[in-house]
Amino acid sequence: MNKFYDNTNVFAKIIRQEIPCDKIMENDFALAFSDINPQAPLHILVIPKKQYIDFYDFTKNASSQEVNYFWQLVNDVIEQEQIVNKGFRLITNSGSDGNQEVPHFHLHILGGKNLGRMIN
Ligand code: AMP
Repeated sequence: MNKFYDNTNVFAKIIRQEIPCDKIMENDFALAFSDINPQAPLHILVIPKKQYIDFYDFTKNASSQEVNYFWQLVNDVIEQEQIVNKGFRLITNSGSDGNQEVPHFHLHILGGKNLGRMIN
């Protein structure tokens, strides 16, 4: 199945600075900001600045530099938010079975309390 990137999605608008976000930090290839509807005391999203639909698209098609910068920013957020020792959860949803709402690849960083079992 071919999937096409929909550049009207909300994260594409955030990257183009058409709508605001609560920016946590960024580097040349990735941006981290607060989730607008937090599911935990700490809920931050990390997205690549270029257009990828989901994890599969990003991992298959992004350059190794983009991939490296993406994961570096994830770790920079984890360090800045001081959740290295207490721990955290990383989630990325994809497609309809994954219940992905926004079709621009994003990683959820969740923490700030014990998050319980993986799937409720
Ligand atoms: P997913 O279900 O993995 O696609 O998650 C999409 C996430 O984006 C949800 O957790 C939403 O709360 C979040 N979200 C939607 N719009 C915004 C926005 N404008 N700023 C920040 N987070 C958003």
